[in-house]
Amino acid sequence: MSHAVHALRAARLARSVKPFLARGSRAARCPDCRLAASHCLCAWKPKVSANSGVCLVMHDVEALKPSNTGWLIADVVADTSAFGWSRTEVDAALPALLAEEQWQPYLVFPGEYAEPERVVTEVDVPQGKRPLFVLLDATWTQARKMFRKSPYLDSLPVLSLQPETLSRYRLRRSKRDDHLCTAEVAAMCLELAGDERAADALNAYLDVFSEHYLTSKAPRAVDLSNELHERLKAFL
Ligand SMILES: [Zn+2]
Repeated sequence: MSHAVHALRAARLARSVKPFLARGSRAARCPDCRLAASHCLCAWKPKVSANSGVCLVMHDVEALKPSNTGWLIADVVADTSAFGWSRTEVDAALPALLAEEQWQPYLVFPGEYAEPERVVTEVDVPQGKRPLFVLLDATWTQARKMFRKSPYLDSLPVLSLQPETLSRYRLRRSKRDDHLCTAEVAAMCLELAGDERAADALNAYLDVFSEHYLTSKAPRAVDLSNELHERLKAFL
């Protein structure tokens, strides 16, 4: 398996002066899914197609974190690109991607931080184009800084996920906290764009990933026949 986040992680590791030590990294890890080999996720990767694309702009160490969920998006959505963010430079491939004829890019961010004329709440793609969701993959504090200090994103419409959509979504996922991870935001975007099957697959995959990740840290064995795995089987 090699995708955009995989490649970004390899490039970031190559630039590291000190080796990046994830917590619990003494356990043997699967090089593909990054989880402990005993909790490998590789057999559970969904196979679905999506009309939408995703462009991840990742804060410095995000691609290295074992808990990063941008990785899962790249596993599910074939057209996922990933770029490392820096305040002072931009990879020329990023503005080039945003300018590609086939895409209608949307910067996904809360509308209250943008000029009102930039804010949209629905995905309404011009004829012949496909939606490209630009996600800032970072902590909330970092993401706000990235939003303010990335001039190449300033011309994009800002897709603001609405409170009604968010609460409906939380109910359905029976989430206990308010924080949405990057994969959940991507799933909501896919749903808004009519890519429902990919959205469902990503959510089911995220649940199984979380289960594998948490049980590996406990540590205890993961139950491969539980309800979460059963649900994901529909997308394999
Ligand atoms: Zn694996």
